[in-house]
Amino acid sequence: MNIEPDIKNSTSDNVNDIQFSDVFNLEDIQRLQDLFSDASGVASIITHPDGTPITRPSNFCRLCNDIIRKTEKGRANCYHSDAIIGRYNPSGAIIWPCLSGGLWDAGASITVGGKHIANWLIGQVRNEALDEQRMVEYADEIGADRDDFRKALNEVSIMSLEQFNNVAKMLFAFASELSEKTYNNLQLKMQIAEQKKATAALLESEQRFQLLFNKAPLGYQSLDIEGNFIEVNQQWLDTLGYTRLEVIGKWFGDFLSPAYQDGFLKRFPIFKSEGKIHSEFEMVHKNGNRLFIAFEGRICYDLDGEFKQMHCILQDITERKRLEESLEESKKTAERYLNVVAEIILSMDTLGNITLLNDSGHHLLGYNRGELIGKNWFKTCLPHEMISEVSGVIEKLMNGDIENVVNNENVVKTKSGEIRTILWHNTLLKDLDGNITGLISSGEDITESKQAEERLREQTDAMEAATDGMALLNADQKYIYMNKSYAAIYGYDNASELIGSSWRVHYFTEELQRFEKEFVPKIRLNGHFQGRFLGKKKDGTTFPQELSLAVLENGNGICIVRDITDLKQAEQELIIAKNKAEESDKLKSAFLANMSHEIRTPMNGILGFADLLKEKELTVEERQEYINIIEKSGLHMLNIINDLIDISKVESGQMEIYISETNVNDQIKDICTFFKPEVERKGMQIFIQNSLPPEETVIRTDREKLYAILTNLVKNAIKYSDKGTIEFGYSLKAASPAELVFFVKDTGIGISQDQKKAIFDRFVQVDLTNKRVVQGAGLGLAISKAYVKMLGGTIWVESEEGKGSTFYFTIPYNTEPE
Ligand code: ADP
Repeated sequence: MNIEPDIKNSTSDNVNDIQFSDVFNLEDIQRLQDLFSDASGVASIITHPDGTPITRPSNFCRLCNDIIRKTEKGRANCYHSDAIIGRYNPSGAIIWPCLSGGLWDAGASITVGGKHIANWLIGQVRNEALDEQRMVEYADEIGADRDDFRKALNEVSIMSLEQFNNVAKMLFAFASELSEKTYNNLQLKMQIAEQKKATAALLESEQRFQLLFNKAPLGYQSLDIEGNFIEVNQQWLDTLGYTRLEVIGKWFGDFLSPAYQDGFLKRFPIFKSEGKIHSEFEMVHKNGNRLFIAFEGRICYDLDGEFKQMHCILQDITERKRLEESLEESKKTAERYLNVVAEIILSMDTLGNITLLNDSGHHLLGYNRGELIGKNWFKTCLPHEMISEVSGVIEKLMNGDIENVVNNENVVKTKSGEIRTILWHNTLLKDLDGNITGLISSGEDITESKQAEERLREQTDAMEAATDGMALLNADQKYIYMNKSYAAIYGYDNASELIGSSWRVHYFTEELQRFEKEFVPKIRLNGHFQGRFLGKKKDGTTFPQELSLAVLENGNGICIVRDITDLKQAEQELIIAKNKAEESDKLKSAFLANMSHEIRTPMNGILGFADLLKEKELTVEERQEYINIIEKSGLHMLNIINDLIDISKVESGQMEIYISETNVNDQIKDICTFFKPEVERKGMQIFIQNSLPPEETVIRTDREKLYAILTNLVKNAIKYSDKGTIEFGYSLKAASPAELVFFVKDTGIGISQDQKKAIFDRFVQVDLTNKRVVQGAGLGLAISKAYVKMLGGTIWVESEEGKGSTFYFTIPYNTEPE
């Protein structure tokens, strides 16, 4: 008989919640109950503690089953009776007459783990002492048919009370046994349930592990001590493209790229001794592709500490590696870019500490790569005097007080103390919330270009300041630059008017042709030329210019031009002066030749007659005549020498004037008196003509010079006349200022028209060859002219050849010469 509880139907694992049906197989119990009834001859049923049946009744008598329990009252009484006999009683069975009054019942409680879960009831037996009358009354009481009731009562088994007690004892023992067994079974069932649960959990976790093992994105492998595969998971196979069969038992190294096999051979013993592995290998996919695999593993040892196997998880990091490589590449590119995009890429935090500075920035500042990172920019890289100014600007930037600063020039100090100028572009760095976290700046070293700019500026300034015109031409021979002078020389107000135009606008065709013919070959040969041209101004007028042009290597041309109008004029004047000087030289040499002759003549006279005087037999008359000639010759010489002295004084500017009261009439009278004998000797007459009354003839002038002028003119008049009269004097010209006009008029040989001007120049003597009567030095008129000028007047002549001449000169009247 199987009375084991039906575990499968069990729904409870708690004793308190236990139901009979949870722990017993009802069919088995029914069979057991039926057997018990058959064996003992009693009716039997198992009920809940409240009396409601659990099993079907076994061996129930017709009285109980078909009559009493069929009536409502009878059934209720039966249940009640059942409850009474089914009371929990651990000490033995309860034997009790049923409420029908005649039959005996007994009950034993079934308890599991102390919990009363059912009653096993037996009964429906009668003994000899049954009160039949009472039974019939009971039939009436419950409303059953009396006859049938009586008939059925007689069918009820008769059993002695003693016998029934024995059966009840047996029931109790049986029920107790059942209870205990059931409890044990329950315990067992619960244990089994626990075990099942644990197994299920284990199964589940194993399944999970299997899932993980096979489906995890990580590959798994285990190797034996030789490095041969013991196990791999699906991910491993998927990663490398092999089937399990192709892998298990093979050597790990066979799956590596050849270049890595040696490495594995060397490192595997190290792995084994260290107990753990972290490594990266290049493996070969079945299709030949190379994969980069990262391994993480541990060695598993047996209880004796011997190597058992190596567990590894692995991950295909080919992509990551590639990314790393490309990241590295892009990092390098970025670094290269950083070094290329600007000479300095600098970033600093809000305190001015350098967070980034590219290689070329380090280099420029004279530091090794990375040396400046973390240093304070201001303290390290700025000249001391600049720190507060620059940090002030940066601080304003950082505070957001000013916008980004672009194109600001600042100096920096290199490690060796050199100062360089950098052109900066600054951009603020902000975090996602817009807070300023620092500054990134790019800078270019403009030191050289600044210096070049400065030099260029100086050169340009110099060019602008130059009086010579300077211009730069491009290869198309058009102006790209010119200084102010250049534009001005050609009559333009502004250089910009000419920029872009060709130099040819400055010349007329003729000059351009000359240029082509004469100078283009020179340029081709030498790259430069210099020459004089006739330039054309904006207004079309021309001017002489000197032009220098040089062609540079790049095809540009430099053009320097100078207006030589003044120079030309000066040259002209120089030529005139030169001619004059030559003329003067000629005159001088003629003069000297003449002078030697002039001097020799009286000298010969003096010497010759002095010699004659030495002779003893001379008459008194002869002697006197010789002495007279000597005296005359001496005077002549003296005159010549005086003239020479005077002209040299005039020439050298040493001649001075002495103003004094001068009576003009007296002077004229004296001169007339002085020359009268000589004039008359020549058979001529001399007159004076004065226009002023005697009281008005005193003027302030240089008496000596006025005398010398008049004497010269009268002397010449006598010299260059053979006949007629000499008339001289003066008149007052009432001009403003008033002046006296003197004249000396003769009726002599006269002066030709073309010689009139020249006679006042020094050393000039009209070639009179034959006509000449008296030799002179050619200085008289020159001296007279100089004196007249000194006295504040002018001198001129009116003459007709062969008829005579009149010399005029003026001196101021009652105003002193300056
Ligand atoms: P010099 O009389 O010694 O030659 P001057 O300077 O006095 O030098 O005169 C220059 C020249 O002018 C003279 O050589 C002469 O030819 C001319 N000349 C001067 N006075 C007269 C005059 N009254 N009549 C004609 N020719 C004159």
